[in-house]
Amino acid sequence: MTESQLRESLVMFGLSLYQRGYAHGSSGNLSARLADGLLVTPTNSCLGRLDPARISKVGLDGKHVSGEAPSKEAFLHLAMYQERPTAQGIVHLHCTHCVALSCLEHGRPEDVLPPITAYYVMRIRSLPLVPYYRPGDRALAEAVREKAKKHHAVLLANHGPVVAGKTLEDAVYNAEEMEETAKLFFLLEGRRTRLLDAAKIADLEKNFPS
Ligand SMILES: [Zn+2]
Repeated sequence: MTESQLRESLVMFGLSLYQRGYAHGSSGNLSARLADGLLVTPTNSCLGRLDPARISKVGLDGKHVSGEAPSKEAFLHLAMYQERPTAQGIVHLHCTHCVALSCLEHGRPEDVLPPITAYYVMRIRSLPLVPYYRPGDRALAEAVREKAKKHHAVLLANHGPVVAGKTLEDAVYNAEEMEETAKLFFLLEGRRTRLLDAAKIADLEKNFPS
């Protein structure tokens, strides 16, 4: 994809996520990798009203190159891209069910969402919780970087998910799958639930290698 196609894609996916309630107000940010940096949604921008010409361009060192000032959370995207060379797009949302999940006490913070469906396993597989840091704290990027070595999706405590994909579209679908699975998790809470067992997960991993 050319840079101008990626700009149009960011606008299209931003609007789609906003219209369907995955993002509210000026929350959430999207990015796409370029050969020499990344495109990221501007600070305080509403995902439903992005302008392709004003999307921020940032170097791989985090320096602002052009467009409006980048999201204050752009450093989360940079840390994920730096650790995951195959990541071409990243989505960060404050979507309701994932945020609710991020506020629970978890006995196994290394994996906070159970294998409810095959599609969740195929798209996300495992979801570690990153400890809470205040917005803008650079220590949060370092905590994401640590988890990103092994995971393309992480959940920031009392905050929301950061999800990478092989393309921007793939990252959007991964984020949507995570939010819908978190919703199912709460719908099923307190009920006897049949999760996918280790054999079923191994079968998926064999037939759908990531
Ligand atoms: Zn955020």
